[in-house]
Amino acid sequence: HKDEEIVATKPEAKDESKEDNAEFFSGVPFSSLNLSEKTQEVLDRMKFKTMTPIQAKAIPALLSGKDVLGAAKTGSGKTLAFVIPVVELLSRLKFKQRQGTGAIIIAPTRELALQTFGVVSELATAHNLTHGLIMGGSNRKSEAAKLVKGVSILVATPGRLLDHLQNTKGFSFENLQCLVIDEADRILQIGFEEDMKAIVKLLPKKRQTMLFSATQDKNVEGLARLSLSETPVYVGVHDACSEATVSRLEQGYVVCGSDQRFLLLYTFLKRNYLKKKIMVFFSSCNSVQFHAELLNYIDIPVLSIHGKQKQQRRTAVFLEFVNAAKGVLLCTDVAARGLDIPAVDWIIQYDPPDDPKEYIHRVGRTARGESGA
Ligand code: ADP
Ligand code: MG
Repeated sequence: HKDEEIVATKPEAKDESKEDNAEFFSGVPFSSLNLSEKTQEVLDRMKFKTMTPIQAKAIPALLSGKDVLGAAKTGSGKTLAFVIPVVELLSRLKFKQRQGTGAIIIAPTRELALQTFGVVSELATAHNLTHGLIMGGSNRKSEAAKLVKGVSILVATPGRLLDHLQNTKGFSFENLQCLVIDEADRILQIGFEEDMKAIVKLLPKKRQTMLFSATQDKNVEGLARLSLSETPVYVGVHDACSEATVSRLEQGYVVCGSDQRFLLLYTFLKRNYLKKKIMVFFSSCNSVQFHAELLNYIDIPVLSIHGKQKQQRRTAVFLEFVNAAKGVLLCTDVAARGLDIPAVDWIIQYDPPDDPKEYIHRVGRTARGESGA
């Protein structure tokens, strides 16, 4: 039956008033945390007043120096839950460029690393902390030069990080204070398990570790055991299936013959591409490539992201779609995982996911944040 289903998801009318949205917020203001003035100023500028539940639970524990294992659904604000404590910690220590790298944040994909780097940048700049991004597909040499000069907060994908840890002379990480592993489940799914083990082995043992994941399974538990202290604080751990997606999400599916599948997609896109922002998920790079060529050829302009593209192209497409008010993006799970793309109207799962968790992650692209965007 699987081949004959197309699943579509649409968020409800957007609710612009932040304060009214009880589900997204915890009710606890950032101002109750006693954060540094500089951090508070950045939050004020972003107009973030109230913490999300995962932030309200994780940030105080992290500020007090504990290791944290955090699980919360996609779109619940996990990025700030670790970036704020990282910045506060290094700022309190008056961490200097010449001390090398003080914090490493590991993300599964290049796009997610890029996005996390954006959030890091806002806060780190305010504190005058050096920060950098290293990832596969970028220039290794210029990355190495920056690392040697001293990058206090480093955002990285696993493969490239391990490469620099092993091979870049003068990259100093013996003063490392904290390690963040974001989207741990995905990191393992992509096949970075061995790299992660090697990374954890190379890093100083005396450090604070924060591990975040949208779902939990045996492999994540293994990585948690390997990287966290013996007594981590668990925050926001919940059953991924009982409350996996935000409640404002409208979900549905169409059952049709497999010969009707493309026609249905075509008709849907034709009707909507001029007015709506739409993401369509496929199960393979080849399928994304094929459908992108086909749709563009028959005059439905679409963007595409998949693993076979050059990194520069992937980044450019990603940023174009983030900033677009409408349009269509075809992508694979790997390329789109964990990304915060604002105001997506429709998620179409043209190839149904193999795993319910994948479905949850895909629809996590929409009805995100407090506005349902
Ligand atoms: P996750 O990593 O859990 O998937 P993100 O960290 O990407 O979620 O955050 C999702 C969205 O919510 C982002 O657009 C982010 O800017 C926004 N956001 C996060 N925390 C807050 C907050 N306290 N108040 C308002 N918006 C927030
Ligand atoms: Mg995230």
